[in-house]
Amino acid sequence: MSSTPQTPQPPTAQSANPALRPPQAPHPGDVDPAAFRAAMHQAADWVADYLEGVERYPVLPSMVPGDLRRALPPTPPQEREPLDEILADFERQIPPRTTHWNHPGFMAYFPVTGSGPGILAETLAAALNVNAMLWRTGPAQTELEEHACDWYRQMLGLPGDFCGHINDTASLSSLLALAAARERAPFELRRRGLAGRTDVPPLTVYCSDQAHSSIDKAMITLGLGLENLRRIESDGAFRLRVDRLAAALAADQAAGRYPLAIVATVGTTSTTSVDPLPEIAAIARRENLWLHVDGAYALAASICPEYRPLFAGIELADSIVTNPHKWLFVPVDCSLLFVREPALLRRAFSVIPDYLMTNEVGVTNLMDYGVQLGRRFRSLKLWMVLKAFGVSGLQARIRFQCGLARDFAAWIERQSHFELSAPVPFGTVCFRAVPPLPPEEQDAFNERLLALVNADGRVFISHTRLRGRYVLHLSVGNLRTTAAQLHTTQELLLAAHTLLRSEAGR
Ligand code: PLP
Repeated sequence: MSSTPQTPQPPTAQSANPALRPPQAPHPGDVDPAAFRAAMHQAADWVADYLEGVERYPVLPSMVPGDLRRALPPTPPQEREPLDEILADFERQIPPRTTHWNHPGFMAYFPVTGSGPGILAETLAAALNVNAMLWRTGPAQTELEEHACDWYRQMLGLPGDFCGHINDTASLSSLLALAAARERAPFELRRRGLAGRTDVPPLTVYCSDQAHSSIDKAMITLGLGLENLRRIESDGAFRLRVDRLAAALAADQAAGRYPLAIVATVGTTSTTSVDPLPEIAAIARRENLWLHVDGAYALAASICPEYRPLFAGIELADSIVTNPHKWLFVPVDCSLLFVREPALLRRAFSVIPDYLMTNEVGVTNLMDYGVQLGRRFRSLKLWMVLKAFGVSGLQARIRFQCGLARDFAAWIERQSHFELSAPVPFGTVCFRAVPPLPPEEQDAFNERLLALVNADGRVFISHTRLRGRYVLHLSVGNLRTTAAQLHTTQELLLAAHTLLRSEAGR
């Protein structure tokens, strides 16, 4: 056998091997441009009609698990299908089996909105299909991300030294923030890790008993361990108790633990309570703990100056997460992480293989700021939403929605057989029926009440548990929600309440 390397042969214009010829029929490359253009127009019409007429669907689909799987062919199509037929199939199969988050009656969890400008931006982003892992691979995308984050920082009234980037979700943003906190700790964790180390005390993180489960997941993922998350008791208004925080810290320090970070929540998931940031920040400063603020939902309200006092102290945070996809009418997904020291994120995450080395100076390479290498062009939808509504338009909508929630809460307070379960600082109301029954039966009553209200199809509200009790959770945050959906909810609540009381014979 000869060891002489073979000279590579240039490819022939038309290979003799049919498998190596580009697909020619019905046209080379992607789908037929004319058919694509027609389908895009058709899709644009469908989207506009959908948004105008979304109320013809029930918010929650009436389907049983597995319905869609059974309706679809079990194997992929061998041959191509025309785009107009695919669109027809979409219309037939998907919307009737969708939970309609864009429905004005969607008031469960924290509603989100695919606003017109956001939908437009998502389409354009898909057309460009940029992967902005490096500045070079997405210069406009990298710089727009920096710029849009800075616009939003200004709108929130955050100091100029906060530097933002965009992740998919608050869960990831909080994980990255805690990873930066971990990196700051003096244990060389990036290089040496945690496993098998006898020289590293338990790294302990503090949050309230109302903090989001994403903090637990961050503890799990970062190898910090759930038993090192201290969930501090909250007060009567569901805010972290600072006296309990100080006591837990002191006890942990005495026991040789290493307190790493405090996660304060502004707008907790169940009740939207706001932890006392100034006192928490003072402790964080004094004890040299990282302060991460989870404002995934409620921080958006800070664009209205009258809400800023609720967030006083946030300027002392090391990191802040807020989700424009929750309450700023940007389609899912768009979560901003602001950090004071972006260098710490780079220290935690930057790994640059040869093939990603570039020589541009003074540019941001977004791959250095987190776990994932690739990233989609999320800043376009943030930028377009900010431009299309303007700051004043967004402020007006947030004020309107909070007003609707306040009116609804006032109505609850006027009903003798319902009570508010928590204060209502933003657009979310927690309440429950209080029939003259023992606590467990009251819970079951409320559960059935919720099921009856949601079964109607015009509105969708959710539930939570507060101090062990089953509570209904209604959140106004969809752009298209008006007083009409709140009135419908009131009627449905009263009707369901009457029915349940008559069934119970009381
Ligand atoms: N933090 C808070 C306060 C939340 O309410 C939520 C979700 O509702 C999250 C974090 C997690 O958000 P995401 O779905 O973006 O991970």
